Amino acid sequence: MAPPRRQLTAQVLLPVTGESLATLTESQLWTLHELGTGMASAEVVRSKVQTEQTEGPYLDTSLPPALQTNLLQIKNRLGREALRSCHLCERHCGIDRLAGEVAYCGIAAQSYVGSEFIHMGEEEELVPSYAVFFAGCTFHCVYCQAHRVAFNPQAGLAPTVPEWVALIGERQRQGARNVNFVGGTPEPHIATILEVAAALPDEVNIPLIMNANMSMTPMAMQLLDGVIDLYLADFRHGNDDCARRLMAIDGYTAFITRNLLHAAAHAELLIRVLVLPNHLDCCLRPILEWIAVHMPQVRLHVMFQYRPSFKSWEVPDLARQLDADEKAIAMRWCRELELNNLVIPGDTTRLRSTEINV
Ligand code: SF4
Repeated sequence: MAPPRRQLTAQVLLPVTGESLATLTESQLWTLHELGTGMASAEVVRSKVQTEQTEGPYLDTSLPPALQTNLLQIKNRLGREALRSCHLCERHCGIDRLAGEVAYCGIAAQSYVGSEFIHMGEEEELVPSYAVFFAGCTFHCVYCQAHRVAFNPQAGLAPTVPEWVALIGERQRQGARNVNFVGGTPEPHIATILEVAAALPDEVNIPLIMNANMSMTPMAMQLLDGVIDLYLADFRHGNDDCARRLMAIDGYTAFITRNLLHAAAHAELLIRVLVLPNHLDCCLRPILEWIAVHMPQVRLHVMFQYRPSFKSWEVPDLARQLDADEKAIAMRWCRELELNNLVIPGDTTRLRSTEINV
């Protein structure tokens, strides 16, 4: 089995000491991040560094490897810095969460976990999965099935980093194949995820999953590159009007498609499409057509388990379950569009032949 991405990222060394790391500006940290991720040549980065440094050089190319800082530590620092003016998700609140400010998601610097347990209800190729249900969310879906956690951002426990490390190690020993960060949604908790990823010892070698609504900004996606092994991505609405009315988010189709393409380029990807009653032509069809054009081989879970919950009883189009015709149409469209890498519960032959390499 390939090592989790975070362990490879921790092998990328940068010529700066851990001590000096604490004194660097966010801009300097991003310069180091560019160098570590190979986005710019070392020469270009050094010249940027020369123009940025105000109190002497901070890159020391003579530094022995044992004293150098790794890219995972840089990402960890950047995740914390990002909280000073939060643009981790497409809400772009710009608040200082380190100073205790809260905005749409209701989360300051501390992450709360509504519940955590070994989950056997995820896709068969992923279980047993250690699910961590973070409190708070960046959307406000009228049909939210996890509203008690999603809209109660201080729900549950707030583990320290050593407690996180112990918990994940224990769940791995109990059989968990991965750590599945979910919620709510995990985007507001990216600083916590990076801090935990940087603290996990080598023997805790299971992959990290981002089970998300995919509202990350490009900056947040860059921080997750080389840390997240698999995105379990919800793709809910195929047009911005339905997304605005039912999830209270603007610009949905632009950022979800951008982030799915980014996720597919940097990690494994499984897309979940929850089929909603009365939303086949307006939502399901454009979603499937986009996938057929841009990533026809992606692992795809077309989900039929929608049940009205939370506020969906007040929304006439969502106040019932799917009917048999809607399920049949969804499957017919998948066949017509040649979307063949489908998660089909109970079809173990298909699952074995298409198992995600996590
Ligand atoms: S994570 Fe929360 S505070 Fe940050 S931009 Fe999104 S909604 Fe706003």
